[in-house]
Parts: sequence; C-alpha cells; structure tokens
Amino acid sequence: MYAKAREIVDEGRVEVTDETDKRLYLEVEGSTDTYGVRMESDHTFSCTCPYATLKGLPRGALCSHALAAMVHLVEREQA
Ligand SMILES: [Zn+2]
Repeated sequence: MYAKAREIVDEGRVEVTDETDKRLYLEVEGSTDTYGVRMESDHTFSCTCPYATLKGLPRGALCSHALAAMVHLVEREQA
C-alpha cells in the first residue's frame, strides 16, 4: 500500500484542488481512475474510490489514494 502511494506521489499524481478552513480537497490519479480525496480538519480522510466507498474508511485506515494524499501533504509542509 505504501509503495503504491509513494509511486503516486513521486509521479506527481496528487493535486490539491481546494482548501478551506475546515477541509482540504485533493485529486489523486490512481492506476485506473482519478479520485477525489478529502481531508477534514481532524485529519480524517475520505476518498471516492470503490475500495473506500464500499468498505468505508474506519478511523486510521487509508486506501492508497488517501495515503498518497497524506504523504503529499506532509512533504509539502516540509518543503
Ligand atoms: Zn481511494
């Protein structure tokens, strides 16, 4: 999972599309489709991919897109 997320970030397939006080919206290009990832102010993530929407993402669990979004945001802060 991390390797996949790492690849997504390294290839520049994560983009912040909107940023508000409460939420951050990102677009993440997965292997088959592009998905919308949202980060709430409490740092919980949600994603529009089938994996995340079918199973739901319990607190602390991430699909590779949400993980890629998180890695992207962490590295953006460090840059
Ligand atoms: Zn996802």
